[in-house]
Amino acid sequence: MAVSDHVDLPTFMEGVKKRNPYQPEFVQAVQEVAEDIFEFMQDKEEYHSQQILRRIAEPDRVVSFRVCWEDDKGNIRVQRGWRVQNNNAIGPYKGGIRFHPSVTESVLKFLAFEQTFKNALTGLPMGGGKGGSNFNPKGKSVREIMRFCQSFMTELYRHIGADIDVPAGDIGVGGREIGFMFGQYKRITNNFTGVLTGKGLEWGGSLIRTEATGYGAVYFLANMLATRGEDLAGKTAVISGSGNVATHAAEKIVQLGGKVLTLSDSGGYIHDPDGIDQEKIDWVKSHKTHRRGRIEEYVEAYPGASFHAGKTPWGVPCDVALPCATQNELLGDDARLLIANGCKAVAEGANMPTDLDGVHVFKAAKILYAPGKASNAGGVAVSGLEMSQNSERRSWKEEELQQMLKDIMAGIHKSCLAYGDQGGGYIDYVKGANIAGFKKVADAMLAFGVV
Ligand code: GLU
Repeated sequence: MAVSDHVDLPTFMEGVKKRNPYQPEFVQAVQEVAEDIFEFMQDKEEYHSQQILRRIAEPDRVVSFRVCWEDDKGNIRVQRGWRVQNNNAIGPYKGGIRFHPSVTESVLKFLAFEQTFKNALTGLPMGGGKGGSNFNPKGKSVREIMRFCQSFMTELYRHIGADIDVPAGDIGVGGREIGFMFGQYKRITNNFTGVLTGKGLEWGGSLIRTEATGYGAVYFLANMLATRGEDLAGKTAVISGSGNVATHAAEKIVQLGGKVLTLSDSGGYIHDPDGIDQEKIDWVKSHKTHRRGRIEEYVEAYPGASFHAGKTPWGVPCDVALPCATQNELLGDDARLLIANGCKAVAEGANMPTDLDGVHVFKAAKILYAPGKASNAGGVAVSGLEMSQNSERRSWKEEELQQMLKDIMAGIHKSCLAYGDQGGGYIDYVKGANIAGFKKVADAMLAFGVV
């Protein structure tokens, strides 16, 4: 069959939309990848004839299940849980678990799809998956969270395994929840294996896993700036979010001499013109993690700052921006505003925080713009290193892991350059990441034949 006989991008996307009705996030993620892959595949007959993109955009399986639990008042509550196993061509399915009321099958399918390319980019042998529930941890007691995690694992355990599928944390799932889920997994199976990552250090976890996503995003940003002979010293940074990714990104920006101006949560953002230094970051960490507080309380502790209810921070002028909250938090107009205010570089700490309009704006402006699948891969990369340590039954030293994380982020940057260098000093990191991630998975799939 001649290349010209193959379906074009609009026809392909038509099919994706038709097969995935009411799943806008999933369609958006596929579109963003397909835009680059169609161009790349033009002269690659095998990818077409073997329907590789069509196959990657159809999850291997989607498991959906009921999760019943009893709240502290004795009410029976019913939630929906999922595990999306997108692709295991290059390794066991790997990806986090998200507990948030916004979780739907569409959101988890988009995350599992993105994870497939992200994990390939790390260079480690990990396939792509994602799971979660529409359970809202906000305002729940620790005992309620424990009961929910146990009930969730009572179904999930049959679908996962150290060489099958290795979940981890994501929004609403941190070390505490991983502990409850690992405890239940071990209780049911009587098996102590590296079936989850993000574990505590005493029971098989890895050093720097907590810091890895935020630190990695800033390492990636530093790599991008270096292509233009610049670094982070003296640069102002606008960051959204105030969870694990945002606070560790802020920490690394400060360590490299930058000044962090904002953090946010679903209630709004805080702007601290004096800069959010390490002491303030530590306050936010403990406020959000231990006290489960809101970011607006920051202005009571630090009166030099202002709180902006119901707003995102993209209107604050900055040199660099790091969206580290959630999907579709930075829209086309926000992207235009950032550029108008002189922003030079954007590195995504969250997954798909920029909508398609915003992605097109950044690309057209030719700024340094890294999609999450490249810049936030540090977290899952250290998860991959946790898996290796579990298999070997040993723990690596912190310096070794720090160096490995830096090397992996530099390696991802290099892969982006290999396929994204457009000449004239412009690197299209979206294209570079999409093609490099796709190629690795696609070539493995070709080897397996039609399965
Ligand atoms: N949830 C993180 C991500 O989006 C980490 C996944 C993992 O460590 O498996 O990549």
